[in-house]
Amino acid sequence: MQRIQQLSPHLVNQIAAGEVIERPASVVKELVENAIDAGAVEIQVDLEEGGKRSIRVIDDGFGIVPDDLTLAVASHATSKLRTEEDLHKVHTLGFRGEALASMASVGELDIVSRPAGQAAGERVMAREGKVERGAPEMIPNGTRVTLRNLFYNVPARKRFLRNDRAELTRVSAALQHIALSAPEVGFTLTHGGRTVFRFAKGQDLHERIQEVLGEETMQQMIELDPQHPQVRGWIGRPDLSKRNAQSIYTFLNGRFVRDRALVQAVREGYRGFQIPGRNPVAVIFLQLPVEEFDVNVHPAKLEVRFRESSAVFSLVRGAVLACLERAASVPDLLGRSDGRAPRSLDDAPHRSGSAPSTGRRSEATARGGFPGERPWAFPTPVAGGRVAEPGSVRSRPSDSPGTAAPSRGALAADRISAPRRQDDLPGGQQDAGESPVFQVRNAYLVVEEPNGLTVIDQHALHEKILFEELCMAFERGTLRQPLLIPEAVHLTPEAWIQFCEHQSVLADLGLVTEEFGQRTVLIRSVPMGFEQRDGSELLHDLLNRLDGAPQGGAELDLRLRGIETLACKRAVKAGQRLDVDQQRDLIRGRAQAFQPRNCPHGRPAELFLSWEELDRRFDRR
Ligand code: ADP
Ligand code: MG
Repeated sequence: MQRIQQLSPHLVNQIAAGEVIERPASVVKELVENAIDAGAVEIQVDLEEGGKRSIRVIDDGFGIVPDDLTLAVASHATSKLRTEEDLHKVHTLGFRGEALASMASVGELDIVSRPAGQAAGERVMAREGKVERGAPEMIPNGTRVTLRNLFYNVPARKRFLRNDRAELTRVSAALQHIALSAPEVGFTLTHGGRTVFRFAKGQDLHERIQEVLGEETMQQMIELDPQHPQVRGWIGRPDLSKRNAQSIYTFLNGRFVRDRALVQAVREGYRGFQIPGRNPVAVIFLQLPVEEFDVNVHPAKLEVRFRESSAVFSLVRGAVLACLERAASVPDLLGRSDGRAPRSLDDAPHRSGSAPSTGRRSEATARGGFPGERPWAFPTPVAGGRVAEPGSVRSRPSDSPGTAAPSRGALAADRISAPRRQDDLPGGQQDAGESPVFQVRNAYLVVEEPNGLTVIDQHALHEKILFEELCMAFERGTLRQPLLIPEAVHLTPEAWIQFCEHQSVLADLGLVTEEFGQRTVLIRSVPMGFEQRDGSELLHDLLNRLDGAPQGGAELDLRLRGIETLACKRAVKAGQRLDVDQQRDLIRGRAQAFQPRNCPHGRPAELFLSWEELDRRFDRR
């Protein structure tokens, strides 16, 4: 039988580190919170290899006095708590006194700190539980903490780290959360010497949210009632929705928290305003008396416990709901030009009286403040006055292939079998355009052919035709169409990281870009067929698509994915009415296509019913 032993402090710290330090992002969070607790105004974070090789945080805070340096890396040593009473009214971000000690046990820690009035920075180094003083260094006032080779001595944890890019993305997200909670503080993040983002110091909340979420998103955000001291922040108009819940940021007394009840409360506030299953964008700051909650329930302090969770829930839900109702009752804010009633499902009678059409509203619509992606706001889709060429009509989300395409149930699959061989493709090439065609359900083309009837999925077919055309252009190198006037696009930090990774693939796809200062990209040329379209939208769609690619996928595969996206974006959509010429064009394209029977993703693009089969089914033979 094994006897019981007291663990060594080093081992204790390693175990504790398991809770606090999970990956580079947790290190950055702890170090940056320390910097903020030290009153820093400018904080710089420099990473190498996603933070796995090195993480360095430089601040201009009040520093650590030389006598305390060794203590700073000791476990359960903190300057932020004195008594038990303090624990119940914590106002600093840190208080557990274990972050630096944990880091010292799972990496090589190097701290240089120079409080005001001191000639140089004093240094302390810690590794495997051993702490020693190092050579002083001339640094500006403040503290510089470096953690190298994270988990070099804990291979099991190291294996859980992902590639540089994935770790960088997490660090970037963690830093943005903190940046949102401290808009007055300046933040810079660099990776491998390249700036990922820089948020200026001295911003107000509105400016900071704009920096983090992007100007376009910010334009669609509305402010929660500023008179309400307990719940402040900005929430997105209902049209602005995301697929995942990462876009709901919640803060409690200035600390970013990930609390399911809070997120749920926000969602509940949107109930009836937003398509179910989507997530709103929201940045919400809750300010509660300290005795109303406990932050000491999670080592990384991401989770909290509320004393009266249902009261907090109603508070948040109520604030969101009130804000949405207020916005919905002022048509101006929603930019509606048709005087349509607010689109809340439980449209309350008090929201009566359609406001007169003002110039401002129509201007908002005209300048495309609410781009074509808003079926909820404009139930009748408009083609946006674009060219009549089929490929040029803008997409709506409900048309994304495979999701909301009209059900094929009406034509039972067992009655109509797909033609089996290429050579039984009906209809001669010469009269392909002449065979009768008609459109049904604004989604399918029905074509009469010499030996039967074919039903074609208009989107799938057009997508395939374009896909082949684009592949050909890709191979010939004729995909790119230079723009006379380059388009500048400002990117969010996430999009910027994606962009840095995929810039060359984008260029291969015809989207040639140039870096143009702070997270701004100049689009010099676009893929053929996209000359008249929104370059920013295309760039974002491509980045999202390329980003979803499995890691380590072959380059060619990435490019094919990109081409698929281009084809999909240009193709006519299900639900779109086509005139006779457009229908004929498609059928002609089909006759010339190499393999028109499947869409690029491999789904069938057409079904065939032979006259024979038809006769047989009617008992004519
Ligand atoms: P905690 O933040 O919970 O107190 P840490 O292990 O993160 O614990 O830090 C230990 C102590 O080191 C802090 O209480 C603080 O006094 C000091 N310290 C850490 N980082 C800094 C910094 N960047 N500037 C000034 N003091 C710091
Ligand atoms: Mg700390």
